[in-house]
Amino acid sequence: MAEQVKVEIIAVGNELLLGDVLDTNTNWLCKRITGVGGQVTRAVMVRDEQEEIVAEIRSALERGSELIITTGGLGPTGDDITLQAVAEATGCPLKLHREALALVKTRYQELAKKRYVGDPALTEARKKMAYLPRGAKPVPNPVGSAPAVILEVGRSILVSLPGVPEELKGIYEDTLQPTLMTMFADSFYQERAIIAHSGDESTLAPILKEVVHAHPAVYIKSRARRFGPEVEILITLSSAGDGREEVEGKISSALEQLKTSLAEAEIEVDRAER
Ligand code: ATP
Ligand code: MG
Repeated sequence: MAEQVKVEIIAVGNELLLGDVLDTNTNWLCKRITGVGGQVTRAVMVRDEQEEIVAEIRSALERGSELIITTGGLGPTGDDITLQAVAEATGCPLKLHREALALVKTRYQELAKKRYVGDPALTEARKKMAYLPRGAKPVPNPVGSAPAVILEVGRSILVSLPGVPEELKGIYEDTLQPTLMTMFADSFYQERAIIAHSGDESTLAPILKEVVHAHPAVYIKSRARRFGPEVEILITLSSAGDGREEVEGKISSALEQLKTSLAEAEIEVDRAER
């Protein structure tokens, strides 16, 4: 078994240290990372102060942590300074990133269409979210407006996620999970999926919970694919590890338990075509 990937989390926000908001993001990330075989070695909370964030990022880099995650401070307002801190800590100055700008622009057009915002125009504040440290990649945010950011620094990967929990989870599950799993895996990542024809997702919840509990190394995600009388729920199981056999074994075992429980609950199952 290869050594576990070392992960550090830096939660940014005055509200956390004022006691106004409970830092649920760190807890959620810890669970996810542990579940896929990473090891969270350290987690801190800091105020919205550039020098504080810079110091934490630098020391995490010095410790050689392979994955450093920041949460919070990516938004359009002046107190959102996480990326400035990343730029300073890594020596990669902020630059307007074309792809990030396109993401922000599309997002505001969608928000205006839904009438969540009045005007889709790219104001300076909105444009701010598209300034990324040089060499960084933007990660689309399916829920909010600020893209997440990934930056490779030597042997470490620095990921900056927004503070709003729903946005953080959306980005993590949609985009980051596969990337991180291959990183944690050293060698092998496998994904299998089935479709459950269930009345609604809530009948599945207790079944999934049991399978998740019994198979902590398998990541299980469910998502409704079609609503109405013909509800289809896509259930994806994935896992990573050093050896193919070990990973396949874990997934097969989880899948078997899942299928048995679904059959007991008289929920029909199909193979997912993917
Ligand atoms: P936005 O684009 O909304 O400004 P952001 O990345 O700038 O996002 P913050 O402004 O830092 O995020 O936080 C937005 C909200 O998310 C906060 O008001 C708070 O309610 C919540 N939040 C921030 N950090 C955490 C955390 N660690 N745990 C739980 N909730 C958090
Ligand atoms: Mg903010």
